[in-house]
Amino acid sequence: MTARIEALQGDITSQAVDAIVNAANTTLLGGGGVDGAIHRAAGPELLEECRTIGGCPTGEARITKGYRLPATYVIHTVGPVWGGGHRREPELLRNCYVNSLALAATHGVRSVAFPSISTGAYRYPIHQAAKLAVEAVRECLRQPTTVELVRFVCFSAGDLEVYRRILGQA
Ligand code: ADP
Repeated sequence: MTARIEALQGDITSQAVDAIVNAANTTLLGGGGVDGAIHRAAGPELLEECRTIGGCPTGEARITKGYRLPATYVIHTVGPVWGGGHRREPELLRNCYVNSLALAATHGVRSVAFPSISTGAYRYPIHQAAKLAVEAVRECLRQPTTVELVRFVCFSAGDLEVYRRILGQA
């Protein structure tokens, strides 16, 4: 079966998929941007579960329940802070997508929604990040997996245009 990849503009907290991915920080104790929005929408139980995990290194991923979210799971991954591109940023960002999808597969997840990891407060250039995201996801979906749908949820119309062009869906 071939998995579907799509991009849309919206709020990741309202996505009715099996798992949404959180662009977290290494503490996993919440923050601004998409992280704050996910914690607000999931409720305080999410933070309680995150406290038991004890953080997550950059490029890795951890899974929790979704609590009050429509999604069953939240996969927390930590993107790199952009520092010019020579501090292993591409490798670390790629690891976020690969490790999130690996974790999704071990939990039997069929649909996953990703935000644009690292391109907000962490300042990774959107074109480079989106190209890397699409390539990493395509590569993962060529391997055996339970995942049938990957949805890139873009917060802005500009980001959506970038993703659509890279996906060839413009
Ligand atoms: P990072 O620290 O990894 O850069 P941010 O949360 O600052 O994470 O930004 C990542 C992306 O998530 C940005 O494109 C931002 O606009 C977007 N974003 C913020 N809130 C939401 C949301 N509720 N749903 C989807 N994307 C969001």
